[in-house]
Amino acid sequence: MAEQKRDYYEVLGVSKTATDEELKKAYRKLAKKYHPDANPDNKKEAEAKFKEVNEAYETLSDPQKRRMYDQFGHNGPQGFGGNTGGYYSYSTSGFDGFDMGDLGDIFSSFFGGGFGGRHSSRANNGPTKGADLRYDIEITFEEAYLGVEKEIYLNREETCDVCHGEGAKPGTKAETCPVCHGTGQIKQVQTTILGQMQTTRTCTTCHGEGKIIKEPCEHCRGKGKIKKQVKINVKVPAGIDDNQTVVLRGEGAAGTKGGPKGDLYITVHLKRHRIYTRNQDNVLCDIPITFTQATLGAEIEIPMVDGSKEKYKIPEGTQTGTKFRIRNKGFQNINRNYQGDFIFTVIIQTPKKLSKEQRELLVELAKTMNEQPPVKKKGLFG
Ligand SMILES: [Zn+2]
Ligand SMILES: [Zn+2]
Repeated sequence: MAEQKRDYYEVLGVSKTATDEELKKAYRKLAKKYHPDANPDNKKEAEAKFKEVNEAYETLSDPQKRRMYDQFGHNGPQGFGGNTGGYYSYSTSGFDGFDMGDLGDIFSSFFGGGFGGRHSSRANNGPTKGADLRYDIEITFEEAYLGVEKEIYLNREETCDVCHGEGAKPGTKAETCPVCHGTGQIKQVQTTILGQMQTTRTCTTCHGEGKIIKEPCEHCRGKGKIKKQVKINVKVPAGIDDNQTVVLRGEGAAGTKGGPKGDLYITVHLKRHRIYTRNQDNVLCDIPITFTQATLGAEIEIPMVDGSKEKYKIPEGTQTGTKFRIRNKGFQNINRNYQGDFIFTVIIQTPKKLSKEQRELLVELAKTMNEQPPVKKKGLFG
């Protein structure tokens, strides 16, 4: 899952006007902080941060690269800093719901005809799928039980609506690179001791883009994309469990040059509930009953997760800690047509305060019963 690339200034925590000295200072501090050796407990995360910091500093510490970055951002015509989606893969599930017929036309024009070369050739100047995005939401136990629709607000890269993703100022056009004639690559034939060898390298004039933007769109600074806050409705299905992910295909960042949008991965977190817990698809709960209910048996009301009440007959002589099961009142299984059970454990409550009358009755009762039950072999608490 590719993360959306952060702004280099943001990565280093400096302002856009930071001096070389400030950059260096920020870099040193962060590189020290995120050095994988200094973070043995979360090496992986530290490593990613470390890389990000290095990449940002590498660009911003070079005056020329910095100028280009200021003008064009990550995906500017120079393409330095790397476009994370450089390889185009057809095996990603990002194509769900796309009409392949239409895409065929788009791709054939970028890949020089047909689908033949798509797996082998690096599509630097071709359409690229947008970045996948991540989002976390928290829902209640009841919402997980019943399913819920949530509105989320997301900062997402959208295709620039001024230049329509072209990156060129409206009224102007990106010109086909005169050096590589739009292919983004230069073929060279070299004579070596092994004979003639043909090598292909990225065109340095257009940096593999195949096009040169002379007048960048002012709205998106030539990126063709712009960050916007968007509202998205997320349907969380009934039965979802803590840390499960809902995937919204095509709700990630905008693609480049006609490439499909990335996907949005929403990880769901469940709030703890006051009385219910969950074990797979079963709902668990403790139900307090009185010792007379337990002794004589009683019909009690059990509060279900959906707010309804279920009547249940507790048999006489019920011991504390006994579990009862109400079938098919647990969570809907998220993958199968199956519903878990509602399992409750009765907890017998010993009264702490008795009226005079109650006490007298109990004393009378006690006289009719043998003082203390015999201690079992396992011991009183066994
Ligand atoms: Zn634009
Ligand atoms: Zn070129």
